[in-house]
Amino acid sequence: MIEGEMTIENPHVLIVEDEAPIREGLTALFESQGFVVTAVGDGLAAVEVAAGGGFDAVLLDIMLPGMDGLSVLRHLRSRSDSVAVLLLTAKGAEDDVVRGLEAGADDYVTKPFGIHELVARVRGLLRRARVTTLKESRRQIVVDAADASSAVIDLDVLAVRLGDHELRLTAREASLLAFLAERRHRAVPRDELLVEVWGYRDGSIQTRTVDVHIQQLRAKLKSVGGESWVGTIRGRGYRFVGTEDVG
Ligand code: CA
Repeated sequence: MIEGEMTIENPHVLIVEDEAPIREGLTALFESQGFVVTAVGDGLAAVEVAAGGGFDAVLLDIMLPGMDGLSVLRHLRSRSDSVAVLLLTAKGAEDDVVRGLEAGADDYVTKPFGIHELVARVRGLLRRARVTTLKESRRQIVVDAADASSAVIDLDVLAVRLGDHELRLTAREASLLAFLAERRHRAVPRDELLVEVWGYRDGSIQTRTVDVHIQQLRAKLKSVGGESWVGTIRGRGYRFVGTEDVG
């Protein structure tokens, strides 16, 4: 087994989709790819089944009768279930995407989706889950903040501390910020972030995931005066700039 290529054997995926033909199609697809699949058709069933644990990933449709996908997601995260979650969203439902990522989703795919991309995304989630677990156990990164004080990005507790302020981050936000902060001498392209932070094998997949997460991260960092820490370097990606001016 090659390091960085660790795979979970027969990963267990929970598929939550109310439309039977899609649910059955997804079940057949993932089973054909070596996954163990549990499929349910509504949100309450998803919450009950997920409570039993043992899942490596959840494919979660947002539009569900009764308890919708975002409520399911919030429920999972409220009990500290960190299972990788990929949302299935309707075309044009950008608000759902933003709310979903805020609620702790790891990624999303817009319907109608290509099956190869979907499987690739789920595999990416599984690799990412491992990467996050490995990285989170050891790191604190000190960054110089405005007014010459220092901020600490603490990956153990997923927070940024600046003076008396403590800002809680999601695992993804902490990994993203840390990755950029450790490479503050250069701009990091989106495709590199997708591979290194998200665990995608192919970073050229078209996705707004990185941009949406960066926007959210900036909005959060504002509360500790760090809204300009992550600069956009046009045509090149993102760079951790601390208090420098962005050219
Ligand atoms: Ca649906």
